[in-house]
Amino acid sequence: MVQALHFKDYPSVRPKHLESWGSYPLRTHYNGNLGTQGYKVNYQGSIFVDSGGFLYMWGEPPGLEAFGFAGPEAPRRILEFSLKLVNLPGDRVTSLDYPIPPGLSERETRSRLRQTRQNALEAARILRERGHPARLVVPVHGRSPEEAADFAKTVWGDLKKEGLLPFVWGLGLGSMVPLRKAHRTPEILAFVGAVRESVPEMPLHVFGVTGLLVPFLLAKGAVSFDSAGYVQKARALKYVRPGYKETNLRQLVGQYPCSCSICESRRLEEDLATLSAADAPPGQKSRVYAALALHNLEMDLKLFEEAVRYQKAEALEDFLHTLAQSHPRLSPLLAALEGKPASPPATRPKPLTNNPKSFDWRRVGWEPKTRVLLLVPCSQEKPYTESRSAKAVLRAIEGLRVDVVFLSGLYGPVPLDFVQDPAVLSYDFLLQKGDLESYLRIRERLLPLLKLYPHRVAYLAPPAYREAVKELEVTLLPDNNRSRFSHYYHKNLEVLRDTLETLCQSGA
Ligand SMILES: [Zn+2]
Repeated sequence: MVQALHFKDYPSVRPKHLESWGSYPLRTHYNGNLGTQGYKVNYQGSIFVDSGGFLYMWGEPPGLEAFGFAGPEAPRRILEFSLKLVNLPGDRVTSLDYPIPPGLSERETRSRLRQTRQNALEAARILRERGHPARLVVPVHGRSPEEAADFAKTVWGDLKKEGLLPFVWGLGLGSMVPLRKAHRTPEILAFVGAVRESVPEMPLHVFGVTGLLVPFLLAKGAVSFDSAGYVQKARALKYVRPGYKETNLRQLVGQYPCSCSICESRRLEEDLATLSAADAPPGQKSRVYAALALHNLEMDLKLFEEAVRYQKAEALEDFLHTLAQSHPRLSPLLAALEGKPASPPATRPKPLTNNPKSFDWRRVGWEPKTRVLLLVPCSQEKPYTESRSAKAVLRAIEGLRVDVVFLSGLYGPVPLDFVQDPAVLSYDFLLQKGDLESYLRIRERLLPLLKLYPHRVAYLAPPAYREAVKELEVTLLPDNNRSRFSHYYHKNLEVLRDTLETLCQSGA
């Protein structure tokens, strides 16, 4: 993603420089030419050129005359420059749009919306005339979700009437940055929802949002996002930790707490020394900032990819709940998504304490009812039986005579009869891979349970749980566990049922 008016950030860029940048596509500029230490760029992915309309938030930005980008010709000139930068199918451009900051007058708002719509139509006509392979992202604005939805519907109708839809990629929702900065994120969800509903045929991009908001916007139907947040965070020396918590880079100790390719290739100690050094060679500090930005970008991409994987497994809701549990400020988004009033964020019982002694199956007088034990993982959702994963398993094994026992990272075995126990309802502990102390605690309580059963099956997809029962005498399923979503797969659930059925018969 680039912006046609990006050069405005660099006062040293003169019209002749811009001319040279526009003389051939961006890929040609970079591929094979940029790179040090023998590494050559070879970028073949798609490129999205935004117009840079963001700069028009408070009227026409100064200094565009010299580049021929001022006045009434600006929209066409900016589009033409954008089209010079891209050359492949899959590339996207936006027409010049005018954002609507909060508090803009009625008259100015109407005029901006009208111009944004006209520019989009004109841009689609130009793409058709030229036979250019790039497709248009139609910018959508409005002061309210309803206004943005109306705008989207009107412009879509206009494009359709002129037969211009084949030249359009989809819609791009703008004006969200002020809302994001004011922490009015539930309103962003409302905008996305309204625009999606008004033109469900078209994919939706959301301009200028990133990070933890993205999974929620995915749930609302947006599919594409952009942001410079990863760079802005790096400028403030903010390091996004795995789990998406921000820390100042200077507060990290030891090693980088991340295994991305950027962090793996760097040493924290050296980078911190470079930042504090008064005599660091020119460019050395910049490399630390650049690495930080790239790491932050990795975290954004990882979060996005994870959310998409959950969405594909039809379990995005679970993921959003997990996110809101570890980031309480997301609770209003969750509430907004579920159509609940946003105000009371504490609808779930607050975690009491994470004390492993609060529940121990050996002290509750529980005894096996059948000869077949089925171990399944616990969930963030309480009671466990309300989680999607538990529901899927319980549905699959309906009617079979087996004892279902949840495996809690905190308490070890929790028999199905005890999912409503106050201690089991109110803790908040997620078993992490490599947490040996917890593994030991779980095993200590699990071993005596296993002894009570002639047949033992563990249906555990999450890697941490599989590790916790490693080498114990249980049949571990799914046996070809390729992702943490494996427990949702029909095929795996069928194998589970078959296995249990066989064991039930042999045990009868
Ligand atoms: Zn990293």
